[in-house]
Amino acid sequence: MIHHERLMPPHHDCPADEWNVIETGFHPEFLAQFETMLALGNGYLGVRGCPEEGGPNAENGTFINGFYETRPIVYGEEAYGFAKTGQTIVNVTDSKIIKLFVDDEPFWLPNARCLNYDRRLNMQSGTLDREILWETPAGKQVRITSRRLVSFVHRHVAAISYQVTLLNAKAPVVIASEMVANAPSAHTNENDPRLASVFAGRVLQHRTSYAKERRLVLCHTTAKSQMILACATDHALETACPHAYKAVHHEDFGQVAFTIEAQPGCPIHLTKYMVYHTSYTASPEEVCGRAEWTMDRVMQQGFQQLLAAQEQYMEDFWHRSDVRLSDIREDWVKRSTVEIQQAIRFNLFHILQASARAENAGVPAKGLTGQAYEGHYFWDTEIYMLPFLIYTSPRTARNLLSFRYQMLEQARVYARHLGHRGAMFPWRTINGDEASAYYAAGTAAYHINADIMYALRKYVHATGDQQFLQDCGAEMLVETARLWLDLGFYSERKGGKFCINGVTGPDEYKTVVNNNAYTNLMARENLRYAAETVASLRTHTPDAYTALVLKTGLAPSEVEAWQRAAESMYVPYDEQRSIVPQDDSFLDREPWDFRNTPSDRYPLLLFYHPLDIYRKQVIKQADVLLAMFLLDDAFSLEAKQRNFAFYDPLTTGDSSLSSCIEAIIAAQIGDLEKTREYGLAALLMDMADVGGNVKDGCHIASMGGTWMMLTYGFGGLRDYDGTLSFWPRRAPEENATLRFPLTYRGQMLEVEIGLETVQYSLRAGECLVIRHEKEEIQLTPDHPQAVRPISRW
Ligand code: BGC
Repeated sequence: MIHHERLMPPHHDCPADEWNVIETGFHPEFLAQFETMLALGNGYLGVRGCPEEGGPNAENGTFINGFYETRPIVYGEEAYGFAKTGQTIVNVTDSKIIKLFVDDEPFWLPNARCLNYDRRLNMQSGTLDREILWETPAGKQVRITSRRLVSFVHRHVAAISYQVTLLNAKAPVVIASEMVANAPSAHTNENDPRLASVFAGRVLQHRTSYAKERRLVLCHTTAKSQMILACATDHALETACPHAYKAVHHEDFGQVAFTIEAQPGCPIHLTKYMVYHTSYTASPEEVCGRAEWTMDRVMQQGFQQLLAAQEQYMEDFWHRSDVRLSDIREDWVKRSTVEIQQAIRFNLFHILQASARAENAGVPAKGLTGQAYEGHYFWDTEIYMLPFLIYTSPRTARNLLSFRYQMLEQARVYARHLGHRGAMFPWRTINGDEASAYYAAGTAAYHINADIMYALRKYVHATGDQQFLQDCGAEMLVETARLWLDLGFYSERKGGKFCINGVTGPDEYKTVVNNNAYTNLMARENLRYAAETVASLRTHTPDAYTALVLKTGLAPSEVEAWQRAAESMYVPYDEQRSIVPQDDSFLDREPWDFRNTPSDRYPLLLFYHPLDIYRKQVIKQADVLLAMFLLDDAFSLEAKQRNFAFYDPLTTGDSSLSSCIEAIIAAQIGDLEKTREYGLAALLMDMADVGGNVKDGCHIASMGGTWMMLTYGFGGLRDYDGTLSFWPRRAPEENATLRFPLTYRGQMLEVEIGLETVQYSLRAGECLVIRHEKEEIQLTPDHPQAVRPISRW
């Protein structure tokens, strides 16, 4: 149930537009939100949407995925096995600053008289575009246009095309392009555990800085994690106006200042190129050298080529990923079709920005749009984001799973440290080590192991990538299966069933519980898939099986033990209510007094002691309901209806990971009002600041969940058994058409759910067999198949 009132705040000046997120004026009260919403990134480099002038900023930020500093985690009371070292993504050198002075008057938004202001996240070109007409106090009119991009094609590169034209007078103009490291942070922890820790002092230690004509290079290292960062900028100025430049640099600062005798109507065009390189191992000199090589290459290409490549990249992305909705009943959703389409694309675009070039890295919970959650990788990636990536950008999905594989050795060591066999993936991490400072809602979330394996299975089914399964997946399966077998036990008191005690499920408002249903169900999947994979390798690819045995010391008896544990898995069930209790003790808890909880006391975690929350029947986010979505075919429609009726009123949605899942189950059981309510909350989580914390970064998991809501929820996609089937449903009197593409085993399918029919077309590939409900459909390129009539709720 949605207990707070933030669901539909007034628009913050963001008009409807299918392809752009537009800011039509400078509004200090929405500064932080727009910094997040208009952030650019490519999964490696992220830049918050702050203006070029170096301010005003709410929380300026430039982030490199996986570039972090460590700090000791200080506990009041230590205990064995607690994570010792915190990891926090670093706000790196800000290289985008371009200050403008006309007649020595600085252009500064809060006091500038802007005759025109338009800033937009252009989701077709993958750029942040701004157009301003500024009238100086002396009455001189200055047109300032800029286009910023973080390149998808060139992972280390960002660029700004910045143009200034005096319209009605001449004037001396200075354009000072700067880069600043260790800028003071406005960021405070505000007693919100979701925010990042604040480092005292300078995080980046200066190694070298130099200038070569218009090129500047600053190189820093982090003191403890010993990472090296080189940031280079270079510039090209084109104008017919007379001009000169001067470059200065010192430890944390570099500046190239262009002085120009601007003539009316004569454009001044500055292109600024920005390059970031990082390394654990190379010397600072080498990292600077790498930055310069990249810089030489992009300077040779120029901005137009960078832009053309970006546009092409975006075209390809939308071709394989766009979800289109038309003719929505606007009175029902209280938003126009264009607004809904804009929000859909905004979600998908930000997932792209968070993940596209996250190579040898994961995806932080906020992508690279903010420092909250410290830049850590969670299960958000596997359960919420990977489905979208698997079906639209399988290469990116593979990279993310490969990255988990790179962490396997650390996960083995961590398991041993905690007294377990097998491997235990960290709940939150950047470098592969557990970084959770609160074990109860961190380390105890053992389900992350099963979540990763669940995503692996989906990936292998959808892509047919057996090679990845053989080379990496199987080893992860063996080690995670070992962990479950070690963690659980056969309980006499539960009729000899296999029980898993002392874990935290998705709902972090109940910690360290016995037999969390989600965990047990997902562990069962993990054990089954491990056993099935090993058996299949043994039969079909004996060499791969032998290699696996060598790598893991696997004994055949282990596989039998996994099968037995899976088949004997205890899944709590309450006969009286005919529901799946969230865990052994959930139903014994005292109900939470929702009636006397004011709406401004959500999220509860900010206002109530954990003990208060833990001992009562109140849920942070979908838990049993999430299991019912992920393991769809294990639950009947009636079971979903009963469980939804029970859990929905207890679920606060204090985590943004909840609404999308509730929307899917509501859609499956035909609860249209809840579908609408949760669907909008998920879709508009960031566009409408539903959780009130967009300022801290985008909710990437919810963005992935929004795609699942559209495809699995409304599109009726079911892929559990490895084949694609569709059970779309249409609300009475609803006229909307929903269209989405899916990449499946190298082919591309398009599904169009229309008013009376569902049409399936093969956009790329030779032949694909799918199912519409129980009917098998064979698709070939020239023969789309339309099925009618479409079922109604
Ligand atoms: C949620 C977790 C999630 C994390 C990062 C928390 O509030 O409870 O499930 O992984 O945020 O998004």
